[in-house]
Amino acid sequence: MKTYFVTGGAGFIGTNFIKYLFESHGEDVRVINYDKLTYAGNREWLEAFEGKKNYRFVQGDILDKELLTTIFKEEGIDFVVHLAAESHVDRSLQSDIEFFQTNVIGTRMLYQVIHNVWKDDISDKRILHVSTDEVYGELEESGQFIEHMPLHPNNPYSASKAGGEMVAIAYRKTYGLPIVRTRCSNNFGPYQHEEKLIPKCIKNCLNHKKIPVYGDGENIREWLFVKDHCIAMDTVLLTGELGEVYNIGSHQEMSTLHIVTTILQYLKEHVDSSLSMDLIEFTEDRLGHDKRYAVDTNKIETNLNWTPKTDFENGMAVTIDWYLKEYRFR
Ligand code: NAD
Repeated sequence: MKTYFVTGGAGFIGTNFIKYLFESHGEDVRVINYDKLTYAGNREWLEAFEGKKNYRFVQGDILDKELLTTIFKEEGIDFVVHLAAESHVDRSLQSDIEFFQTNVIGTRMLYQVIHNVWKDDISDKRILHVSTDEVYGELEESGQFIEHMPLHPNNPYSASKAGGEMVAIAYRKTYGLPIVRTRCSNNFGPYQHEEKLIPKCIKNCLNHKKIPVYGDGENIREWLFVKDHCIAMDTVLLTGELGEVYNIGSHQEMSTLHIVTTILQYLKEHVDSSLSMDLIEFTEDRLGHDKRYAVDTNKIETNLNWTPKTDFENGMAVTIDWYLKEYRFR
């Protein structure tokens, strides 16, 4: 049995990832979910696993050296999946101190503790450092980000994520920590906090409230269904080459406006025929708003044999239905 230590496991991707681990590896895995439970974390989504012998939730901060050291000394951890982060770009424009504390200093604390505890024996141990395509900066209409390109983050969130990656690179090169990194595009799916675009749009539609869209709504992101990301993360963790970085994406490029109109149309068809496109309200553009992101995924597809399985329409239907049935908007 392998023990996974997942930081930020009570967040959007973490919750999906832990569920995926139990679904795909069954009784062969044990998971320690280590999460500070900021406003973005919700322990309840994985409550059904609490009390079972292969799941443990620990409320903790990745800046807490003592607690991390105790856990790494006592728990026999094999794999680390580092997801914990401040993740919302809009919040980083209001106040970014927590972003640099958690995403950079917290990452350094985590890797320093692991290095201290693991330094005499790292055989078979592996760490997945989860970064984002936002660290590359922005693209114009054409082209894709390739792993060897320089990082050029344009907002405090992406700068803090780029800083976290620099820590990962340094701890790999200096101390030989068994780290492999990923840079994924925008995820969508169940369990995402309602401050993010898709759940916020669903919420506003259900309440007949205006849906704010930045600028002209033509900023482009690549949208990957979260379960495909979970499969990719586990694939890179288990089979990726240490020290390397892998892009993860779907090639499904969409404008913000397309996302919002897709949700509006779906809800109009299935829930409330009185909904109208008039709910869309264009607002002043976000500071430092990157025009377009798109990732080249040749490396993960060719070397690790991973490809996304869920197309945008199906993933979106699953997502919207989940929010309608399972989520209580605040
Ligand atoms: P999220 O905000 O939903 O979850 C983050 C989790 O981290 C929360 O549960 C929070 O309580 C926890 N956390 C925050 N600070 C912590 C700290 N100091 N110590 C311990 N736990 C802490 O974020 P998410 O969307 O699930 O993203 C997870 C990771 O994936 C992040 O590193 C993010 O940068 C990366 N990522 C996200 C996306 C996306 O589209 N959501 C895309 C690419 C990469």
